[in-house]
Amino acid sequence: MQDSKELWQSKLFFSTELLQWYERSKRDLPWRRHRDPYYIWISEIMLQQTRVDTVIPYFQRFIERFPTIQDLAEAPEEDVLKCWEGLGYYSRARNLQAAARQVVERHGGAVPDNKAEVAALKGVGPYTTGAIMSIAFNRPEPAVDGNVMRVLSRYFLIEEDIMKTATRTLMEELATELIPEGRASDFNQALMELGALVCTPKSPQCLICPVMARCAGRLEGAEERLPVKSKAKPPRPEYRLVALVEGDGENAGRVLVRRRPDTGLLARMWELPHIPADAAPGEGAGLPDGPAMDRLTAALVEAGPGVMARPVGPFLNAEHTFSHIHWNLRVFRFSAENAPAAKGGGAVLAAVAESAAAYDAGSGAASTSAAEPLVEYRWITREDMDSLAFPNVFLRILNRHFEEA
Ligand code: SF4
Repeated sequence: MQDSKELWQSKLFFSTELLQWYERSKRDLPWRRHRDPYYIWISEIMLQQTRVDTVIPYFQRFIERFPTIQDLAEAPEEDVLKCWEGLGYYSRARNLQAAARQVVERHGGAVPDNKAEVAALKGVGPYTTGAIMSIAFNRPEPAVDGNVMRVLSRYFLIEEDIMKTATRTLMEELATELIPEGRASDFNQALMELGALVCTPKSPQCLICPVMARCAGRLEGAEERLPVKSKAKPPRPEYRLVALVEGDGENAGRVLVRRRPDTGLLARMWELPHIPADAAPGEGAGLPDGPAMDRLTAALVEAGPGVMARPVGPFLNAEHTFSHIHWNLRVFRFSAENAPAAKGGGAVLAAVAESAAAYDAGSGAASTSAAEPLVEYRWITREDMDSLAFPNVFLRILNRHFEEA
C-alpha cells in the first residue's frame, strides 16, 4: 500500500510521463487533425467496440457524406444506416442522428460547450460526454471506458471489479485528479492511446511503457491478472430459419427481402425473411432440414408476402452475436413459382401485418394483426444493395449468393 506522499508522486509521474510519451508517439488519426466537436463525437461513437483501423474509412466516408451536424440531421435515415453498414450497433447511428436533430433544434447546430447539455443528447453517455468535453473543449472531465479502467487498475494496483458502478465512480475520480491543468484534451487522448497501443488487454508491453518505473501492477507481477472483471451474462442463443428466395419471370436474378419493423432489434433495416426455429440450446440449428423447409414454405405464403416458393435445399449456416442475443441461422434456398410482378425494378412487392414482437421474441411464428406495423417486402438485385441498409450477417449471406449466382 502506498502512503499518501508516494501516491501523490505516482500520480504526478504518471501524468507527466504519459503526456510526454503522447507528444512523441501519438498516431495521426483523421479526427485528431482538428478539434471539431462533431468529428470527435462521431469518432468516439464509432470507436466504441470497434478497432481504429476499421473505423478510419467509415469515419472519412461519414464526414464526407454528412460534413455538418445540419447535414446529418436532415439526411434520410436510410442514408445514415447505409453509411454505418458493417459497423454494427445500428442503434448508435440512429441515436447519433436523433442527437444531431436535438443539437440543431436546441443549440442552433453547434455542439454546446456545456457538460449537462452534451450529456442530455440522445445516445451520449458519461464516457462520450467526457470525451467531447475534454478532447474538443479541453474541459477537465474524465473519459473512462474499459481501456482506461484497465490502465488505471494496473498502474494503481486496483483490485476492485470494474463491472461495478462504484469502481467506475472511483476511476472517474482518479482520472479527473490525474488531468494536468489546461491539458485535458491531450491527457485523455494519451490515456486512451496507452490502453490501445501499450497497456493492451493481453500481453501488455511493459518494457516500452512510459510509466513502467512506477506501475504498481507490474511491480507486483499482476499486470496480466488485472483488471478484475466479473463475467457478463452470455448472450441468449436463438435459432432461426432463413429463406433466400430467388425470383422467376421478370424477377429472375432478384432476391426477396423485407424491411424490419420500426421498433426493436435492427429497426427498419433490410433482411432475408426468417422465422424462429423451436430448438433448445445445444441442438444445432434446430429442426431437421425437411420440416424446416416446410415451415418456411408455409411462412412465405401465410405470414409473408404471399409468394409460392419451392425449396431448393440448404445454402449455408451463419451466426451473429448482438449484445444480448446470439443468432444461429440456417439458410435455405427457395425458388419462387408465382412471384407477383415487381413494379419499376424491385419496388415494394407487398405489405403484410407482422408483429414486431415476433421478430425479437425468439419463439412462435409471426402473428398477423391489422393493428400492427406493416412490413415491406421487395425483390432486389445486387445493385439495390448499394442503397439499402442490411445488418452484417445478411450482407454476408447476400454477397455470397450474388457472387455465386
Ligand atoms: S507498465 Fe505494463 S501494466 Fe503498467 S501501465 Fe505500463 S503496460 Fe500497463
